[in-house]
Amino acid sequence: MNNSKKIAVNFNAQKIREDFPILNTRVRGKNLIYFDNAATTQKPSCVIERIKKYYEHENSNVHRGVHYLSEIATHEYENSRETVKNFINATSTEEIVFTRGTTEAINLVAYSFGKTFISEGDEIIITEMEHHSNIVPWQLMCEDRKAKLKILPFDDNGELILDEYEKLFNEKTKLVSVVHISNSLGTINPIKQIIDIAHSYAIPVLIDGAQSIMHSKIDVQDLGCDFFVFSGHKVYGPTGIGVLYGKKELLDQMVPYQGGGDMIKSVTFSKTIYNDLPYKFEAGTPNIAGAIGLKSALEYLTNIGIEQISSYENELLIYATEKLSQIPQLKIIGTAKEKGPIISFILDNIHPHDIGTILDYEGIAVRTGHHCTQPVMEHFKIPATTRASFSFYNTKEEIDFLFEGIQKVIKVFS
Ligand code: PLP
Repeated sequence: MNNSKKIAVNFNAQKIREDFPILNTRVRGKNLIYFDNAATTQKPSCVIERIKKYYEHENSNVHRGVHYLSEIATHEYENSRETVKNFINATSTEEIVFTRGTTEAINLVAYSFGKTFISEGDEIIITEMEHHSNIVPWQLMCEDRKAKLKILPFDDNGELILDEYEKLFNEKTKLVSVVHISNSLGTINPIKQIIDIAHSYAIPVLIDGAQSIMHSKIDVQDLGCDFFVFSGHKVYGPTGIGVLYGKKELLDQMVPYQGGGDMIKSVTFSKTIYNDLPYKFEAGTPNIAGAIGLKSALEYLTNIGIEQISSYENELLIYATEKLSQIPQLKIIGTAKEKGPIISFILDNIHPHDIGTILDYEGIAVRTGHHCTQPVMEHFKIPATTRASFSFYNTKEEIDFLFEGIQKVIKVFS
């Protein structure tokens, strides 16, 4: 949580809500209160309409046709890449690879960077708070290349212990891969510092931006990161589309991840020549509608203003943290000074699944479980948490309902 951020007093969440038809859903006679935004965000009408328009008027395969529809589809697909490039301030569209999501983007880098640059005994640094999708691909790669994972720990507030960071580097270190905002703790990691330190050893850095792309302005040139990955569905776009940003000089050297159509210039049985960037990493028919829907989502956010969004969501986080802290039986897991709008909590002697089920009867959607971060649960010696994660379409009134809902849960179990 960052109390120093300017509060967006004029942010009109009620008006914004009109853009999201699903928010009118009634759940067992109650208004839906959607606090599962870290898992996936809801889609504004403009995204839904754009996908419909694509299938009604533009549907065709890309890059391979000379006919009218194929030219439109190709144009729109490549326009989407341009929008992504501008949204994160990459230098060129060659550095924007469309993937299925964050998970596939990390798997791509783990495989291709691993095959290209990692040999026996080399080391990769990740942290104790990574999502499983920023752990398991590296484990698979390390198994394949006989390399080793080094883990940067966090403290009981959920802040990375940076004093330990530099100690992890040696001549075998080849890459650092770190989450920007933790999906289970909410911690905003000091990624600029993390990148700068790695670069002082000439080591590239991958940033898992799955939870930061929708909450903060990302400028990959300013950050200096070598790879940045995110998912469309967490940034108000469709599922099945995601982005790998990678510096051209690295992507150029890396071997392809998958083989097939579109990723080649020419194929013979004796020699295949791979395509230029970014197509070298986009084998097969891509998710054209997904990319076009993502463009629409990014434009929607840009119109509202990501800084406005960020400060309003921070206001919600401060409000919710103060409110939930009034409940004596409740303990917040993840109390870093800098947090995104995510609150994980536990209640004395009540399992998170029971909390989630009772809250669902009140129409409140929260997520319960380990949130694909089992090492985080292990750190706190807990099996699971309940997580409420906020978006700019949420309101303080909804947080009041969550507060009341938690009181009901405690009453049921008392
Ligand atoms: N990294 C983080 C921090 C996440 O929160 C998530 C999803 O929750 C992922 C990676 C994986 O994203 P996806 O399932 O969209 O590939």
